[in-house]
Amino acid sequence: ATPAATMVGTTIGAQNGVLFEGGDILERVRDVDTVVFDKTGTLTKGEMELTDVVALPATDGGSVEHDAAADGGAVVESEVSEQFVLEVAASAESGSEHPLAEAIVEGARERGIEVEDADEFENVPGQGVRATTSHGRVLVGNRTLLREAGVDVTPAEDAMDRLEREGKTAMLVALADGEGAGDGDIDAAAGDYRLLGVVADADTVKESAETAVAELRERGTDVWLITGDNERTAEAVAEQVGIDPGNVMAGVLPEDKADAVEQIQSDGRRAMMVGDGVNDAPALATAFVGCAIGSGTDVAIEASDVTLMRSDPLDVVKAVRVSEGTLSKIK
Ligand code: ADP
Ligand code: MG
Repeated sequence: ATPAATMVGTTIGAQNGVLFEGGDILERVRDVDTVVFDKTGTLTKGEMELTDVVALPATDGGSVEHDAAADGGAVVESEVSEQFVLEVAASAESGSEHPLAEAIVEGARERGIEVEDADEFENVPGQGVRATTSHGRVLVGNRTLLREAGVDVTPAEDAMDRLEREGKTAMLVALADGEGAGDGDIDAAAGDYRLLGVVADADTVKESAETAVAELRERGTDVWLITGDNERTAEAVAEQVGIDPGNVMAGVLPEDKADAVEQIQSDGRRAMMVGDGVNDAPALATAFVGCAIGSGTDVAIEASDVTLMRSDPLDVVKAVRVSEGTLSKIK
């Protein structure tokens, strides 16, 4: 492309809220044959809402013994109700800024629960949180987080399965059970955790996501979905937007997203990775073209070649069109 054509392209792009980090990027975008979308905040609005609380039917009478710092560390017995499950989960999540966590805390407040701040809190990226609360030690997160703490998650499988098929993100809630179980280091994996129940958040797919995917596929572009969320939720979202179930990579840990992109590109594909989160920066940098979308974090924008000012997946199509239009004009 001539410098003049490149300037026209970048200008048209900017007028459309599509910022190319230089002229050679414009040419790169034209050569993209694969688009990899991050799920949360990219294809979905990233505005989570608490939708479900499930208290697991207890095998031993429906109550749990746990530490209560509020009662001077005494062991108390509580009925495992939906209210209790949510109270425990919200308190553990009170220190987290993750959208999943904020929805749980917000949902609890809306349901009239007074959410107590966690005493200690640890974020486990891509898995959940570990916290010490007035109820004792708590885990809220995915299967991996609980399994690693030695919790048998099978009693929650039916509920998890049902919620995930509805496209929701279901999270397990466990509380350290018995006398003294609330003591000690929150890092300690050991502890007789008692599985209390499940909480679920739902996100909504962006209005233009389906059209964006359809237009990319029409162009002959292969479209992928990549997420840290579980397979069932990911597939439900993929189905809603028209992405092939074979093109879904789920359960990808933040640090593995770049590898996943590399895997997709391994047969010479030229992928544009579209993402918004801090987690996505390495993947954006690895992709043939990295594209930060809308409300994207500074880290994501820094790592990207194209920045979309709006949060609209259709602007990905625009980026491609601008690059093709400009380059064909001068050929
Ligand atoms: P995404 O790739 O969709 O942005 P993340 O990598 O942030 O998702 O998280 C992956 C999974 O880890 C979530 O679907 C959820 O099951 C679990 N998780 C992450 N953070 C939290 C949290 N604060 N509370 C509970 N679960 C969490
Ligand atoms: Mg994300």
